[in-house]
Amino acid sequence: MYFGIDLGTTNSLISVFENGRPRVLGGSQPLFPSVVSVMDGTLVLGAPARERLVSHPEHTAAAFKRAMGTKKAFRLGWKQYDAQELSALILRALRQRALEETGVAPQDVVVSVPAYFNQIQRNATRAAAIAAGLNPIRLVNEPTAAAIAYGLQDIAAEGHTLVVDLGGGTFDVSIVEVFEKVIEVKASSGDAFLGGEDFTRALFNRLAQEFDLAPKTDAERALLWNAAEVLKLGLTRAQEASCPLPWRDGARALSITREAFTDASASLIQRLRLPIERAIHDAGLSRDEIDRVVLVGGATRMPLVRTLVARLTGKLPESGLDPDQVVALGAATQAALIARDAGCDDVVMTDVSAFSLGFEVARRVGDRIEQGYFEPVIERNTTIPVSREFVFQTTQKGQREILFELFQGEAPLVRDNIALGKLLVAVPRNRADYEIVIARLSYDSSGLIEIDTKVASTGATRSIVITDLTGGLSERELDARRKTLAALKVHPREGAENVALSARLERCFAMALGEDRVTIQDMLALFRQALERQHLSEIAALREQIGQTLDQFEAGYVR
Ligand code: ADP
Ligand code: MG
Repeated sequence: MYFGIDLGTTNSLISVFENGRPRVLGGSQPLFPSVVSVMDGTLVLGAPARERLVSHPEHTAAAFKRAMGTKKAFRLGWKQYDAQELSALILRALRQRALEETGVAPQDVVVSVPAYFNQIQRNATRAAAIAAGLNPIRLVNEPTAAAIAYGLQDIAAEGHTLVVDLGGGTFDVSIVEVFEKVIEVKASSGDAFLGGEDFTRALFNRLAQEFDLAPKTDAERALLWNAAEVLKLGLTRAQEASCPLPWRDGARALSITREAFTDASASLIQRLRLPIERAIHDAGLSRDEIDRVVLVGGATRMPLVRTLVARLTGKLPESGLDPDQVVALGAATQAALIARDAGCDDVVMTDVSAFSLGFEVARRVGDRIEQGYFEPVIERNTTIPVSREFVFQTTQKGQREILFELFQGEAPLVRDNIALGKLLVAVPRNRADYEIVIARLSYDSSGLIEIDTKVASTGATRSIVITDLTGGLSERELDARRKTLAALKVHPREGAENVALSARLERCFAMALGEDRVTIQDMLALFRQALERQHLSEIAALREQIGQTLDQFEAGYVR
């Protein structure tokens, strides 16, 4: 028996691969809400804990997967837990469910994670599984697991599949190619802060406005939130939905139409577009080359998501498997694949790196050398295992050493990416004007990253393997990183237009690959310099010019 776990933001599932096929456990209620509550000093998990979200919000924690890998504290009564501990509690409950239903206590398991989880978040997930008494033999990206579930069901269907996964709190998109029984992920993209909850929030705000409700207490907010969730599910079934709301001195009758809901979620629908277009672009495809579209995650049940995806791809999404279960089914199948189970031993699969890896470099801007730029060496969506070489040159004559600092992320400046580790390489003085060092960066499927360097003039080599990826960075530093990523810094000198252009440059850098990235970084460097000099007419001219270049770039990008 092979077990797979979908550890979701909203709901988790455990499934088993047996007799050549996967199935989810849990009978008629396979979804295990990822909610933890404390009642009279004891823990309550799953469905009953979710009920307590409304009645005892101060004793209940939900959506903690969003804080995975951080030290964020969730207060339950008078005790505090972090996301890793809360996840371990859910995993332990799922393990217990499997033991009760199959008579086998799961040991080796495959656990799914969002494609956009970084190494710190992945390590935290792995640690949570170990704490729950499990042996996580592999972490699989959620859309990859979905593709495996669909791929195995209908392996004859060759071509490109677009997997769109909208869960409670995360959005993942990937392009998967099936060719002669090989399943390959060509690209993945997403938004770690977009999910069904946001649609509930949009409905919550619309209802508060339309029915003139101003919730004053946590309890009132919880009631209205609950009504919004009920109406959202109702609108999936019908054009119009209504429900009663107990409110202060009496009951109110709430009702809303699909049209009003679509209108209230316009900005969210807009945010669903970009990752889909980006994934298609990154896979080097045009939308006509997408052969099929698969929807995953409870929130893809909303008609407005189906409509949008159909419009963007020109295809009707498939719905052969239950969107809630697809990831868990794929995770168990992956476990069987790793064990080379007879039911699927002729299916091979490869994966891609979900983020770019690269080094900090200095750039020459005019006659100045500026530090702090990110030079991607392994770009996101490169098939792993992978190994790439990059040539570095000292920036000053007589320089004695080069510091290789490794980062992951999609931002043009290293300060906005995540630092993974560093390697200091000595270079001989006076051998040449400038010394050259060749660095090779390798990334394998188990997540190990290796840096090998060779000094060109002497042949001296050095290397390190980065395994403990949190190592070298204190929790405080990590926290500072995350805060930087979360908040777009606004320099008091800069006007709104300049902030907007800088943000656009960074967004375009994140979308671009290869040569385009160099061009965008050049423009960013020029623009920053102009801002620094506070030369208003120059800034305005640059803004105009860069804006036009970006227009062209973006027009070429959406094919
Ligand atoms: P996760 O992967 O984040 O755990 P799920 O895939 O279980 O999440 O999806 C949960 C989300 O799906 C919730 O926001 C829930 O409101 C939404 N959802 C579930 N069923 C429906 C439905 N029938 N219509 C609209 N939204 C739904
Ligand atoms: Mg999910």
